[in-house]
Amino acid sequence: VYLLAIETSCDETSAAVIENGTTIRSNVVSSQIETHRRFGGVVPEIASRQHVETITWILQEALDQAGLTMEDMSAVAVTQGPGLVGSLLVGVIAAKSLACSLELPLIGVHHIAGHIYANQLVHKLEYPLVSLVVSGGHTELIYMESEGSFRIIGQTRDDAAGEAYDKIARALKLPYPGGPHIDRLAQEADGEIKMPRAWLENSYDFSFSGLKSAVLNVLNQSRMRGEEPVAAHVAKGFQSSVVEVLVEKAGRAVKEYGAKQLLLAGGVAANRGLREALTKRCEELGVPLLMPPMDLCSDNAAMIGAAAFLKWNRGDITGLDFKAEPVLSLEKWGY
Ligand code: ATP
Ligand code: MG
Ligand code: FE
Repeated sequence: VYLLAIETSCDETSAAVIENGTTIRSNVVSSQIETHRRFGGVVPEIASRQHVETITWILQEALDQAGLTMEDMSAVAVTQGPGLVGSLLVGVIAAKSLACSLELPLIGVHHIAGHIYANQLVHKLEYPLVSLVVSGGHTELIYMESEGSFRIIGQTRDDAAGEAYDKIARALKLPYPGGPHIDRLAQEADGEIKMPRAWLENSYDFSFSGLKSAVLNVLNQSRMRGEEPVAAHVAKGFQSSVVEVLVEKAGRAVKEYGAKQLLLAGGVAANRGLREALTKRCEELGVPLLMPPMDLCSDNAAMIGAAAFLKWNRGDITGLDFKAEPVLSLEKWGY
């Protein structure tokens, strides 16, 4: 079974061919980072226009690299939401046109289910499990009792982890997207400016806005005195706070829910500090930690194909009459 998958929810245009839900035949990603960098973030209008320019050749490239044609495809899968509506629309319309003209089943996929099921491309999942999703727009702990079932047990009350990374990076005058730069500085740091942690009592929720304010205060106060704090010390202090809270809460959820695995997903899953600290905690807990390889952490269509396969297996076809959904519930999309 070959699924042709499309992802255009934000600023990556991507198409992939996935064989039997787990084998990547191709996964072509065109990133718009260079275009948006000078604006310090994604500009939605520009993003959707660039998707339009890129989508046709990227679909052809995905088929070429797989050594297959449209006639070989069993179904088309596309990110339905959440994301930027103008960006999503480009993928959804492309997918509908293909499905319609070739009379193929069409499957709409939740973007975060995609991030989670990126792990299925490289690991064997065992339920029940707990997923820690950390991305540009989401920070969630999700209990998954069985395949395709999602129960959000905790989430951010303000900024997402990746969003906080990007804002702090911007304050440190690092290029967009700032996550990888902060990560690198934190690894190299020979000191640390201690930052607060938001525990929010015993809940599994997260908050990063207090931490963000604390970091900005340190920067502003130093700069008012005409000094510039060592960027690496700031980065290390910030990252230590983020990582400690994520690891602590994820570890506690694994114990409380009797999870057989802890699964990490989303763009911030590429963070080396987080990967190391979670690896250590999971060793202590005696629970396997599943993480996607670096190139499957950020947005890509292969992960959308992997998630779509769950629905394909159940004969759960979305059909042609769905809309791009900038806001879409993961729990409702799942089972
Ligand atoms: P969502 O998936 O929630 O819709 P998104 O698709 O925009 O949001 P992703 O592509 O999943 O987000 O992740 C991008 C985010 O990951 C950016 O905020 C980026 O800074 C962050 N990121 C990438 N690499 C790292 C890293 N090594 N350390 C920390 N953050 C990182
Ligand atoms: Mg992106
Ligand atoms: Fe994403």
